[in-house]
Amino acid sequence: MAKSEVEKLKKQLFAARPHAGQALTPEQWRKIHEYSATYKNFLQNAKTEREAVELALELARGRNFTEYDPEKTYCAGEKVYVNNRKKALILAVIGKNPLDAGLRILASHVDSPRLDAKQNPLYEDSDLALFKTHYYGGIKKYQWTALPLALHGVIVRGDGQILPVSICEQEDEPQFCVTDLLPHLDREQSKRKLSQGIKGEELNVLVGSMPFRADEGSELVKLNILRLIFDKYGIVEEDFLSAELEFVPAVPVRDIGLDRSMIGGYGQDDRVCAYTSISAILALDHAPPHTAVALFADKEETGSDGNTGMQSAFFEHFVESLCEKSGVRPRDCFAASECLSADVNVAYDPTWSSVLEKNNAAYLNKGVVATKYTGSGGKFSTSDASAEFTAKIIALFRDNGLLWQTGELGKVDEGGGGTVAKYLAKLGMDVIDVGVPILSMHSPFEVSAKADVWMAYRAFGLFLTNDV
Ligand code: MN
Ligand code: MN
Repeated sequence: MAKSEVEKLKKQLFAARPHAGQALTPEQWRKIHEYSATYKNFLQNAKTEREAVELALELARGRNFTEYDPEKTYCAGEKVYVNNRKKALILAVIGKNPLDAGLRILASHVDSPRLDAKQNPLYEDSDLALFKTHYYGGIKKYQWTALPLALHGVIVRGDGQILPVSICEQEDEPQFCVTDLLPHLDREQSKRKLSQGIKGEELNVLVGSMPFRADEGSELVKLNILRLIFDKYGIVEEDFLSAELEFVPAVPVRDIGLDRSMIGGYGQDDRVCAYTSISAILALDHAPPHTAVALFADKEETGSDGNTGMQSAFFEHFVESLCEKSGVRPRDCFAASECLSADVNVAYDPTWSSVLEKNNAAYLNKGVVATKYTGSGGKFSTSDASAEFTAKIIALFRDNGLLWQTGELGKVDEGGGGTVAKYLAKLGMDVIDVGVPILSMHSPFEVSAKADVWMAYRAFGLFLTNDV
């Protein structure tokens, strides 16, 4: 067979995964950079689940979303939100079809790995003031030392007043850090296994070193810090017991690479899918065929437990309430529903290729990634999307000219992980994971590719307006 014949046959039979750099037009690249700027802004300003919910709400209210009223009957095109304890959120646009035709759901999460202050955090040791922390989610602890940290969260004062905290983000504000051992003296530390290189109880955050001026007395550095905090917030030590204070990287979001093709920043898992979901549902200017829902869950990184996690019934209760007035049984609505579990997947990293399987990994710049199953070691604990539903979603992407790819979370038996997909699947709907490939996932500085972010936004928009 002639060479050209072989090429022709290959083109016909082989799966092709074009690269955004070759496949997209200059006009598309203009839109990609434009969209990236809005995403970077969100990422910079939404460093906790509460801040992400607040920002999402602000954007939604600006597009005429109103608080859901269970007593009211809604018509097609109306836009509502449910704010679950300021940490999880539902945005919905009522569709033209009845509810027993099902919902179209985008389910992302807005919590990210970080260092939480313990309930009784502040102590003094050897004239230094420090905060004890308990890390949240899956982190590699050694990545969190010698890194500028900011403090975000909320304090509820004894008198009931709620004080939002966000310090260290402005240029003239101080920052914090966890100290590490100098290499000159790490002979014993360097013998530890990497996972023990920094231990949980060594993640102590440095917050001060100056004593309160007095002739005598103990714990004067701690006293001085408490005095500064009292002056700023009017709180006393006991108010820490109920506070939610999160130390997050104070590193600004930036373009990565001389070609500016990538974005570096903290918390892209999963605020990249949260932001693309927000902008997709906000872009609906007509009533969609099916009622469109964007869910923003909390607590995904710690197992989706708690009343703001995806295992809580808050979403079910919302759907039950919607169904009640139209005489549709919620289970019929769930059974006919489709969901994209909007979450990130690992991107192929040549430096760490030994744990990634080339043929089934996702790559930067090859578009939105559809992950049929997650889980680990023999597909345990996964919601494996059906062939029918996977084919339907892939066809939607392909037929609309998206760049898309499939992915798997590493080689078999190398590890694994899960998403909220299985909790939505529990309700009886079709679910597949769709999101953005990420380098350095769960680190203080994660990397995404701009083209993939834009493709996720477009994929989510197509899914919400798909008529079949
Ligand atoms: Mn995630
Ligand atoms: Mn994660």
